[in-house]
Amino acid sequence: MTAISKLYVLLCGYEILPRSVCFRGGGDRFVMSVPISAYLLETQNGFVLFDTGFNADLVRDPTLRHQHFAAHGWEPPVVWPQHELLTQMREIGVAPEDVCHVVMSHAHLDHTGNLRHFPHAKVWMQKAEYDFAFKGPEHPAVVRADIDDPGLDWSLINGDHEIMPGITLVSTPGHTPGHQSALVSLPKSGRALLVGDVGEWMKNFENEILPGEAADDVAALDSIRKINRIRRDENALMFVCHDPDLIQKQKLAPEFYD
Ligand SMILES: [Zn+2]
Repeated sequence: MTAISKLYVLLCGYEILPRSVCFRGGGDRFVMSVPISAYLLETQNGFVLFDTGFNADLVRDPTLRHQHFAAHGWEPPVVWPQHELLTQMREIGVAPEDVCHVVMSHAHLDHTGNLRHFPHAKVWMQKAEYDFAFKGPEHPAVVRADIDDPGLDWSLINGDHEIMPGITLVSTPGHTPGHQSALVSLPKSGRALLVGDVGEWMKNFENEILPGEAADDVAALDSIRKINRIRRDENALMFVCHDPDLIQKQKLAPEFYD
């Protein structure tokens, strides 16, 4: 039984990254353009958003652009008007108020950028990730201004958790301390795994290659294997957030998977 009727893939822009950010040991001289994906689920209980893309103000405002990118030696992402999360939602007739749950895979800036638009929703994050995001000095890949909003309704969890029939959050730590994925059931297509940044590309899963950055290498490899096990057991479709080849083969909103 599943509450889900549709899954939309939202392409929210591109990051310009050394290949080594996607694959451990992948080389610093090779520069890749990788998609930033978010996913919108239509359910009987309203819409559920998995990740929120990137806040384009961080590249449009020169001060923020310097603070969050140039100061770290990073290239800013590319976000064209057609990549804007709210624009894509509007095109399929969905307003921010229609979203009742937001699942945050983790607290990095390419996933939290539009969270502020969803004060009406329950925001699901692993407790360990929340602590990573808010305790101590600001991590360079975390933008507290995107997430530190008193209007947000946080639901902090420890481990795997079903939020409604057909949507189970799966704890997959390693890339960050409290990273999580989601196993969802689609009415016709069957199971699907939304894996966030457990692996940046499909190749990370196929060859068990760690992402460039991990808070805990042992946990990161365990999580890659956990996803591979679920994928095999459930014969699940894979939705990998930053895979530049996969994104070109997927149906993008307003098309959908049902
Ligand atoms: Zn990411």
